[in-house]
This record gives sequence, structure tokens and C-alpha cells, in this order.
Amino acid sequence: MSSSNPFDEDQNKYDYMFRYIIVGDSNVGKSCLLLQFTDNKFRQNHEATIGVEFGGKTIEINNKKIKIQIWDTAGQEIYQAITRGYYKGATGAFVVYDITRKETFEHVEKWLEDVRTNASKDIQVILIGNKKDLESERIISFDEGNALAEKHNILFLETSAKTSFNVKEAFVKSAEKILESILKTGIDPNKINQNVKISNKDDDEEDEIREKKKLCCL
Ligand code: GDP
Ligand code: MG
Repeated sequence: MSSSNPFDEDQNKYDYMFRYIIVGDSNVGKSCLLLQFTDNKFRQNHEATIGVEFGGKTIEINNKKIKIQIWDTAGQEIYQAITRGYYKGATGAFVVYDITRKETFEHVEKWLEDVRTNASKDIQVILIGNKKDLESERIISFDEGNALAEKHNILFLETSAKTSFNVKEAFVKSAEKILESILKTGIDPNKINQNVKISNKDDDEEDEIREKKKLCCL
């Protein structure tokens, strides 16, 4: 998949690590959003994801280095059999629909329900209306997306994985919220969520092993 290597030495120098999952119907652009964020690339014919793919990138918010690690669903969305393990330990979730396909929007509440039942209750969710570049084919208005997000009290943005519009902003906006709640509560993040962690040199190696294990076992 992406050429960015999440095990890269540099990427281990961070203050916090947030793990994200991306859910939504097939073909809404989940894998393309991941690739655009990590590698600034867009693939017109991105092959369907098989197995679990993941990518990472470190961003800076309020002088804190945040390592964002993203897990991409692996074609299971077709069978609606995404495992509990996939949701476990996620700090943030992207729930994605395609603004040109009504059914993908209609399925958003099902995906939200999935996140609510399987993920940590503290998970920070952002609703994403993707393919904003296809304005002429738009079926779902910005206001409809925004109203749904307000109803569920979650963040909302429209993006284009093709032009990169709002892609980085979506991760930044969501990570800012997570960071804000960590700083506000002043609680050791390790205690509230095992996957929001403060970097510690000794831990890094352990982390990598854990990450590799997860990859082979999911
Ligand atoms: P996934 O099944 O949700 O992972 O969807 P993919 O990322 O594989 O994308 C499905 C299709 O939509 C591919 O043909 C992509 O090239 C296309 N696509 C993804 N994002 C965008 C976007 O923002 N704009 C446009 N025009 N096409 C997109
Ligand atoms: Mg995919």
C-alpha cells in the first residue's frame, strides 16, 4: 500500500499517539482518504482493500507531536462483518459517506451504531462527506450532512480525497478535540484509553512489536 512506513524511526518521536479507524460503505473513498493524508496521493482506481491496511503520519498541534495511526477496513464492509478487534482501542473514528450516493448517507447511522457498540465510549467521531469535487453529481447537501452530525453531536466536514480538500483538516480538527479533552481532564491518557499514549523511548520498541502482531492476527 502506501510508501510511508509506520515503523519509520522518525515517526516514533511523538508526544501522543492516536489510533483512528475509518468506516463507511464500500467505495466512499476510505482508502483514498488514508492515502491522501499519509502520502498526498490519489489513485483513480484504487484496488479494493484486502486485509487490514494501515498508515501513519505525525502532525503537530499546539507544539505537541501527534502520531496519527490509521487503520483502514479491509473489504469486510461488504459483508458487514468488521470485527470487534478492529474497533478496540481506537481513539478516533472517521465515518465516511459519498455525497453523490444517497444510500451511503442512509447507512451512516448504522455505522455510527457499530462504532458506539464496539469502540470505547470516549472515541472521537467525525462524519465525513467525501467526493466534494463531484459537485455536479451531489445528492446530499452540506446542510443534510451537518444536521446529521449535529443530531449525533459529532464533528462534520466535507472532503475530497481527489483534490485533498479538507483531508488534513479533518485529522487536525479531530485530533485537536482529543488533545483538548486530554488536557482538560488532566488525566493520564494511559489510564483513560490504552491507545492514547505519551511517548516513552522504551515503549516504542514494544509498540512496534505489538503493531506487527496486530497486523498478522487481524
Ligand atoms: P473505499 O472502498 O471506501 O476504500 O473506497 P476507495 O478509496 O477505494 O475509493 C473508491 C473509488 O472512489 C475509487 O475509484 C476512487 O478513485 C474514488 N474516489 C475516492 N475518493 C474520491 C474523491 O474524493 N473524489 C472522487 N472524484 N473520487 C474519489
Ligand atoms: Mg478501501
